[in-house]
Amino acid sequence: LALGILVSSAPSLLSCFRESSSKDQSENDPDSDFIKHGIPDLIGHTPLMQIQSLSAATGCTILAKLELANPGGSAKDRIALAIIEHAEQKGLIRPHSGDVVYEGTSGSTGISLAMVCRAKGYRAHICLPSDTSVEKINLLEKLGAVVEKVPPAGIVDKRQYVNMARTRAAQHNASSSTSRGLFADQFENEANWTAHYNHTGPEIFKQTQGKLDVFITGAGTGGTISGVSRFLKPRVPGLKVVLADPQGSGLFNKIKRGVMFDVVEREGTRRRHQVDTLVEGIGINRLTKNFAVGSAFIDDAVRVTDEEALAMARYLVENDGIFAGSSSAVNFVAAVKYARKIGPGHTIVTVICDSGARHLSKFWKDAGSVGGEIGLDLDSILK
Ligand code: PMP
Repeated sequence: LALGILVSSAPSLLSCFRESSSKDQSENDPDSDFIKHGIPDLIGHTPLMQIQSLSAATGCTILAKLELANPGGSAKDRIALAIIEHAEQKGLIRPHSGDVVYEGTSGSTGISLAMVCRAKGYRAHICLPSDTSVEKINLLEKLGAVVEKVPPAGIVDKRQYVNMARTRAAQHNASSSTSRGLFADQFENEANWTAHYNHTGPEIFKQTQGKLDVFITGAGTGGTISGVSRFLKPRVPGLKVVLADPQGSGLFNKIKRGVMFDVVEREGTRRRHQVDTLVEGIGINRLTKNFAVGSAFIDDAVRVTDEEALAMARYLVENDGIFAGSSSAVNFVAAVKYARKIGPGHTIVTVICDSGARHLSKFWKDAGSVGGEIGLDLDSILK
């Protein structure tokens, strides 16, 4: 009888137990966060970490959103997933039906798209400049993407990587009646900034409990700065949004002069390779749709040289064990410069976009190896 009672009441007991147990666990035990169901489940909800050395040196609380903790190693996982899910909702593509996602990118977006495509039943076709680093090409191929090399990034004509990806998607749709080609179009596709508005911004708001004074980051497509600032600005009184801009980029002067771009680059026009910097992924000279939607929220800009970024990257390894990519190093230089400008006692949030492992053959080759230089003075590295 006792057993019968136990068994018959087991379901409700079990569910009670499960509810209270999972609640207690999730509050106290970071390992209790259930089982994830595939790669898309792992994207986002990245940690926010205080940078001890920079906080101590500036008297500000300098926090970094660890986007390198996404499964594909960068913030681009968020937009890859958003772009694909948005296209699915609009009925443009269907999983396991032979549909192909096309993108022109030499950066992390290709890697994130290749990964998310495999996870969701699509193929990825990535057009990239022929001078893209061999690590990235290898990674894309190992992730099962079709890799099409086109002329180097400085040459802007119909073979330019973004233009070529657009063309390939159009050719796919013209030639197939059974499957679809989707041009991901990270620069213009508004699923990019909205992914940061819907996720990155709210996560930062929650993690800081709305207590932050500055959000500072660079812009490549502009999706991160636009989405995060559009979410945070109305919710955080007095928040300053600051652009971290590498040398060679045209954004700094435009923000400083309070004018945005007068000319929108037209498809297929030739321009010189304007961003001449070791830093990859950020710094633009044209008004992308993703940057435009957030540009009105940007209060200030800080310019960062390659030399400063290289020194900062070494500083973070030496003092914190943080091995960051080039755009993250730019963000930290800008965060420290801005902290010095506004003085101690403020909370500054920035982003670690990706790891130094993606930048071994370029940025970190120039940075060299880090020796026993603990105690490197911040003043000596910031111009
Ligand atoms: N860091 C890296 C390494 C990037 O590749 C990019 C985007 N190209 C960014 C930062 C900037 O992000 P966003 O495109 O959202 O402006």
